[in-house]
Amino acid sequence: PVPVVAVVGRPNVGKSTLVNRIIGRRQAVVEDIPGVTRDRVPYDAQWSGRRFTVVDTGGWEPDARDRAAAIANQAETAVVTADVVLFVVDATVGATDVDEAAVRMLRRSAKPVLLIANKADNAAVEIEATSLWSLGLGEPFPISALHGRGSGDLLDAILAAL
Ligand code: GDP
Ligand code: MG
Repeated sequence: PVPVVAVVGRPNVGKSTLVNRIIGRRQAVVEDIPGVTRDRVPYDAQWSGRRFTVVDTGGWEPDARDRAAAIANQAETAVVTADVVLFVVDATVGATDVDEAAVRMLRRSAKPVLLIANKADNAAVEIEATSLWSLGLGEPFPISALHGRGSGDLLDAILAAL
């Protein structure tokens, strides 16, 4: 079977932009308005001759209600059905309470997690991203999903984790 990589994180951190970077085409919907992706959306991906499925999800939030709860449940289902999880954080903001709640959800899943410090568009943000060690998920991977900075190294790390 083709391995599955789930992309999760709170709204607006750049999950869909990262999915597009990984698949090498603009297919996942990127929006400034949070909550555009409601379901789990799978895409075929390939790197270094290996195929995998990457699953985009809507923004995960703790204690969500109504529509937001349905989106968060879809994200949690994506986690439990994945082989590897990419947990995306906004490196320009740093770790938030919501990020910390997401880490607790990820720990319960016991899945392998790569911590993605997105929006590291330049060296200064990349240095700030080291503060994300505090989340307890190991080394943060600084990347700019928008510009591609660090994405080759990340793809190598994803394959190594599969
Ligand atoms: P999602 O809600 O987590 O899927 O986030 P999106 O992929 O829709 O992106 C939300 C906003 O962040 C959009 O305006 C993106 O252009 C922007 N964004 C995503 N990745 C980056 C990045 O690496 N650098 C910068 N500066 N902006 C980004
Ligand atoms: Mg999205």
